[in-house]
Amino acid sequence: MDFTNTLIHWYLHNKRELPWRNTTDPYLIWLSEIMLQQTRVAQGLPYYNAFVGAFPTVFDLAAADEQQVLKLWQGLGYYSRARNLHSAAKHIAYELDGVFPNNYNDLLKLKGVGAYTAAAIASFSFDEPVPVVDGNVFRVLARYFDVVSDISRPSSKKEFAALASELIPTSDPAVFNQAIMEFGALQCVPKNPDCRICPMNEGCLALKRKKVHELPVNLKKQKITKRYFNYLVFNDEHRNTKIRQRTEKGI
Ligand code: SF4
Repeated sequence: MDFTNTLIHWYLHNKRELPWRNTTDPYLIWLSEIMLQQTRVAQGLPYYNAFVGAFPTVFDLAAADEQQVLKLWQGLGYYSRARNLHSAAKHIAYELDGVFPNNYNDLLKLKGVGAYTAAAIASFSFDEPVPVVDGNVFRVLARYFDVVSDISRPSSKKEFAALASELIPTSDPAVFNQAIMEFGALQCVPKNPDCRICPMNEGCLALKRKKVHELPVNLKKQKITKRYFNYLVFNDEHRNTKIRQRTEKGI
C-alpha cells in the first residue's frame, strides 16, 4: 500500500471522535479550526461546545455583543482570534447574506483566515483538493520522504504543499487532510514517536536512515525573551479591588 492508502486506513481505525468531524457545515468547521490554533484539542473542546450552544449559526454570532463573545473565549488566549471571528461572522451574515465562501481563494479573504484554515474549510466542507500544511504535516512528510528543507523558510511551505498536492486524492480530500493531521498528532509525534508500531515504518525514509529525531529541520530557534511585570493592587477597607481593563495589545 502506498502512503495515502496506508494513512487513510490508519485514520479510519484510529481517529478521535470529535464533534466537528461529523459535519460539513463550514461555520462549525471554521469555528473549530480557529479555536484549535495554538490550542490542544482537550482544551478547545469545551469552548467549542459552549460557542456552538450560544451561537448555533453564523447569524447568532454576528448578532452577539462583542463582550459576550470575549467572555466565552475567556481562557483560550489570543483574543484577536475571537475579534476576527466576530468580525468575519458579521461580514458573512450581513454582506454575504449568510452564504459562506465555498472555495479556498474566497475563504482566504475572510478576516483571520490564513492558508491553513482556508484549506481545512475548503476540503472538509466543499471537497476541494487543497492540502493543509501545518506543523503536523511538515513533520510527517519531512520524515516519511526525508525532506531536509528548513521549515522556517517561507519557500519550504510551497515545497511541502506541492508534495502534499501530489498525495491528496481528488476523490476524498477531506479524509486525507484529516488523516495526515491526526497521524501527526497521535502517531508521528514530535518527540520519541513509537516507530515500531507505525503502519508507515516500512516506507519511512527517516526511520530507515536513522534521522527521525533530526526531522523536520527547523533552523529558526524560538527566541525566548524574559519579561518582567510590576503590579499595583489597590484594595479598600471593604476588600473591593480596583481593576482597569487592558485595551492595548500584549500579555
Ligand atoms: S516510522 Fe516513525 S518517523 Fe516514520 S512516519 Fe512512522 S512514526 Fe513517523
